Amino acid sequence: MYKKIYKEIKKYDTIVIARHVGVDPDALASQLALRDSIRLTFPEKKVYAIGTGSAKFVHIGKLDKIEPVDDALLIVTDTPDKKRVDSVDFSMFSYKIKIDHHPFIEKYCDLELIEDTASSACEIIMELILNTKLGCNRTIAETLFMGLVSDSNRFLFNSCTTNTFMLVSKFLDAYRFDIGELYQKLYLRPLCEVRLEGYIASNMEVTDNGLGYVKITDEVINQFGVDSASAGNMVNNFNFIHEVLVWATITEDIRNNQVRVSIRSRGPAVNKVAEKYNGGGHMFASGARVKTFDEAMQLMSDLDQLLLEYNEDNKEE
Ligand code: AMP
Repeated sequence: MYKKIYKEIKKYDTIVIARHVGVDPDALASQLALRDSIRLTFPEKKVYAIGTGSAKFVHIGKLDKIEPVDDALLIVTDTPDKKRVDSVDFSMFSYKIKIDHHPFIEKYCDLELIEDTASSACEIIMELILNTKLGCNRTIAETLFMGLVSDSNRFLFNSCTTNTFMLVSKFLDAYRFDIGELYQKLYLRPLCEVRLEGYIASNMEVTDNGLGYVKITDEVINQFGVDSASAGNMVNNFNFIHEVLVWATITEDIRNNQVRVSIRSRGPAVNKVAEKYNGGGHMFASGARVKTFDEAMQLMSDLDQLLLEYNEDNKEE
């Protein structure tokens, strides 16, 4: 499959690389690293990475603007379904490739490389580089490392395998990048976010079944002086609490007129419940965008029921 993808890349003079809406570091890093690797290998090709940017992730790299293209190849990273691909007119492209690590949802490209046991989309791009003649340099290796580290929550998730560590080790050995420097870029944050973290810890509701959730209203977001994306992302900081098996942040996003629900689990798979609310994601890291807090609370009630059943099934004799 890697060779097939390389063959298509070789064939096209213009290549556009996209990823999902609601950009996150792995989605962004996978598209930028692939773009830079193709540019390095084939300097004569026009290669663009597109989508809505985020000031929060400028340290990962910059996106491009494109003109309408003709006879071009589209590569989409980190996106299992067509409706979540950011800023792409599919009719513009002669051939389409998907590279993803989410559980399969639908086929929407001519060629699809899906490795749902990979820690991140960046892990698959690492494999693609190692298994083809695509080039790499220190900047590309750093970008891939940042995406992988973010999506695995610093190697905390079960999605990290021996392969993940082997790939990281190979890239680290070859390009000798400074991990400490990259962690600063990824994790240095303002005091207001740490203070909001304290608010979440103090205000998290925890049910008898082990569901933890917190509502973060626009008023709270303004009170702490943070943005709604950073507030929602704090879900990642609440793992490993004895009393909590599934946890969620419910964040009001006034600008987009929606409520973002971000869910994590170290017990039952939660993606099916998220799908019921027009969301989705990984088994243990899912999300949904709903219209109201009431709808979000309905989702919480479904998660609580899921936990009730999970606890029944896993009761110690
Ligand atoms: P979040 O923590 O909200 O960023 O979401 C965690 C994961 O869930 C994301 O990486 C996506 O894979 C998935 N996800 C979030 N929102 C949606 C959505 N509206 N539809 C499908 N998948 C989603």
